[in-house]
Amino acid sequence: MLRPDELGVLRVSGWADWGWLIHGFSTRSTGDFLDWPSDDEICKRFGAAAAGTAMLKQVHSGRCVRADRAWSATRPEADAVCTNRPRVLVGVRTADCLPILLVDPSRRAVAAVHAGWRGAAARVLPSAVESMASEYSCRPGDIEAAIGPGIGPCCFEVGEEVAGQFSEEFVSRDGPKPHVDLAGILGAQLRQSGVDRCAIAGHCTSCDLDRYFSHRAEHGDTGRMLALVGLREGRTC
Ligand SMILES: [Zn+2]
Repeated sequence: MLRPDELGVLRVSGWADWGWLIHGFSTRSTGDFLDWPSDDEICKRFGAAAAGTAMLKQVHSGRCVRADRAWSATRPEADAVCTNRPRVLVGVRTADCLPILLVDPSRRAVAAVHAGWRGAAARVLPSAVESMASEYSCRPGDIEAAIGPGIGPCCFEVGEEVAGQFSEEFVSRDGPKPHVDLAGILGAQLRQSGVDRCAIAGHCTSCDLDRYFSHRAEHGDTGRMLALVGLREGRTC
């Protein structure tokens, strides 16, 4: 279950009880992240103590990078980023593509993942789970996932060249063009990777412009939301 707080940030029930974790999915009322606010401003909008950030130049790839320190200006080309360092907040920006946060409470490692249809086809989410396993010895069964708001099957109308990339289980052909269920595909990829615990926002960004930015519904002229996750310093419970 994901619920908005007074900052307009969607928080995952259960995760909010972990004092060592900073996490959330921004919404329209949290502000626009298209023009890269400063790290201090990002922390303020998420209600977090000052920390550094490590974000990406998102290119719809299957690549996951490890953040051992904060970086601001030189963002690597990738679509997932993991860390186990305190006060290094990792995040991805979206407006229809789906943001996914991964947390291993046992190993205290986290990841943020950006997945539209290209990223789903490139298996960026399994790649992030594999990176957490190889870099931090995480067991997939210990990892908890949360899939934030993104374009829903109601609005994600695609051509056959896109629909054909995915199992028919996630393609609806009730209308003139196929519709694809990206959150369903990502949930299945998580289960195949051994991650059984997953909270899903289930909100369609394209249907709900009061709450979210939508690249498709606003014809490319829109803002960006930020999904953020990281570890606080010096907290053990
Ligand atoms: Zn919709």
